[in-house]
Amino acid sequence: MPQYSTTMSRQEGVARDTIAFHIEKPAAFRHQPGQAIDVVLSRAGAGDAQELRHAFSIVSAPGEPQIVFATRMRASEFKRALGALRPGSRLTISGPFGSMTLHPDGQRPAALIAGGIGITPFMSMLRWARSERTARSFLLLYSNRSPQDSAFLDELRQLEHSLPAFRLMATMTDIGSSTAWDGPTGMIDAAMLRKAVGSRQSPIYYVAGPPSMVTAMRGVLESLGVVSDDVRSEEFYGY
Ligand SMILES: Cc1cc2nc3c(=O)[nH]c(=O)nc-3n(C[C@H](O)[C@H](O)[C@H](O)COP(=O)(O)OP(=O)(O)OC[C@H]3O[C@@H](n4cnc5c(N)ncnc54)[C@H](O)[C@@H]3O)c2cc1C
Repeated sequence: MPQYSTTMSRQEGVARDTIAFHIEKPAAFRHQPGQAIDVVLSRAGAGDAQELRHAFSIVSAPGEPQIVFATRMRASEFKRALGALRPGSRLTISGPFGSMTLHPDGQRPAALIAGGIGITPFMSMLRWARSERTARSFLLLYSNRSPQDSAFLDELRQLEHSLPAFRLMATMTDIGSSTAWDGPTGMIDAAMLRKAVGSRQSPIYYVAGPPSMVTAMRGVLESLGVVSDDVRSEEFYGY
């Protein structure tokens, strides 16, 4: 896999405890929406043999000048080292890799199912769709605990206005009584999915989120008669 040395440009808060990292794009780097990179950091005070490595989906579209990835900031050694990077800090990336890319047949609607920060690969797809002015139909079901946890929610609402064939359905699963949210609540299930898909013909389903959600969604799709060839996901553990 190609490996590139690059530079941190900036960090941007995109939801509670959730940071988007903007890094310089190496001249030879190309990716397809839905793909990922490994980010490789040196362990503090150690040489290359002591590297820390983590996979992240790419948020940015292929045509953007920088590469963007995002994650929830938890207290792991990798995320502490990542959060300590400042503008100008050097880091290594390798990739891109991953096959959760858009189906070559643009007539097939894309039904994207995201849980939490699993929204990242879908941001790249939707930003690409906006830049290409594609007529491809996109549906996004986006589940979060609360609006404060929902990365890129404002941008997704704007995308609904600029992409005529895109529909967003966001649901919150843990809002309690104190947060203002008048949209759908509860986990994505068979009834919610069937209603959102409506009359769309033969969608390809893409699933990204916590492992428990990916497993549950595979079961829901199977119960709705969707064949496994029409379901795309990848294993992303250890976040
Ligand atoms: C293809 C792919 C790409 C990914 N890319 C990234 C990345 O770039 N960066 C990154 O940090 N992580 C990435 N992940 C990992 C990932 O999404 C995290 O494991 C996950 O989101 C956990 O953290 P959270 O706080 O966002 O989720 P949580 O807040 O715990 O959950 C998100 C939502 O999922 C719902 N949910 C949970 N279980 C179920 C269930 N059984 N049925 C229905 N709904 C459920 C919750 O109710 C909640 O609304 C990726 C995962 C996949 C599969």
